[in-house]
Amino acid sequence: MHTSPVALVTGASRGIGRGIALELARAGHSVLINYAGNAAAAEECRALCRQAAPAQSSASFETVQADLSKEADRQRLVETTLCRFGKIDLLVNNAGVAPDRRADLLEATEESFDRLIAINLKGPFFLTQRVARHWLKAAETWPARGARPKIVTISSISAYTASVNRGDYCVSKAALAMLTPLFAARLAEVGVRVYEIRPGIIATDMTGPVKERYDKLIVSGLTPIRRWGAPEDVGRAVVALANEAFPFSTGEVINVDGGFHLRTL
Ligand code: NAP
Repeated sequence: MHTSPVALVTGASRGIGRGIALELARAGHSVLINYAGNAAAAEECRALCRQAAPAQSSASFETVQADLSKEADRQRLVETTLCRFGKIDLLVNNAGVAPDRRADLLEATEESFDRLIAINLKGPFFLTQRVARHWLKAAETWPARGARPKIVTISSISAYTASVNRGDYCVSKAALAMLTPLFAARLAEVGVRVYEIRPGIIATDMTGPVKERYDKLIVSGLTPIRRWGAPEDVGRAVVALANEAFPFSTGEVINVDGGFHLRTL
């Protein structure tokens, strides 16, 4: 059995997922880097994790291609993680996609809706179910005291913010927000704690196409903290949750958004 804590991070090849993988590596975790199709980016993330890991750390890093919208891929992802590391201490549901084309609500297509729901909602729901089933069985062998596994799901400010040019994305994230209370309630009996991180505007490939527009909005005060978020900002929040910093909290939402969610007058 692996001695360092083991994290399974979905969509870790690029962007926020990569930032999470790097911060976990820096904190001494082994990381399973999942990706959909960009093997080169996943390998690059693995090399960066190796560099980031503490010198004396026993942590190791693996990449696994798996499309989370597909049941067979989710099964292979969990089985491979358990085969390579022997356990999962942290599941980070990060992978997600934006619509290929931003379209007004009245022009939105079923095709885009189905794609976003399959990747952003169905994928994490059933991946979490699969990992939860494993934990419920494994719990019989856990020592009476000690750290318990955790789940962190990366949703979005779009879970509660209406953007009429990407309604499909908003509804996928609003529904995803229910995952955390559901699994927090179901898994509390075995000590598994479940959290949601709600990122704001983070500089990644996903926000590349709207960079100029968001630059202007940020400068004019859209977020009280007037800067873009970085993947590292989200990664550091995940490490805080993973490192037993909140032992009597579950089902919590952590906003990593520069204060976007604040109402001001
Ligand atoms: P990104 O830069 O586009 O990266 C997306 C990641 O997800 C990549 O690793 C990609 O793998 C993976 N992925 C895509 N489809 C997948 C699938 N079907 N199965 C498995 N992996 C898949 O996106 P990001 O900005 O980092 O976003 C990460 C998460 O944060 C998403 O859930 C997003 O909705 C959320 N979020 C982002 C922002 C933001 O401002 N960027 C704000 C709030 C929330 P490949 O490299 O192989 O394509």
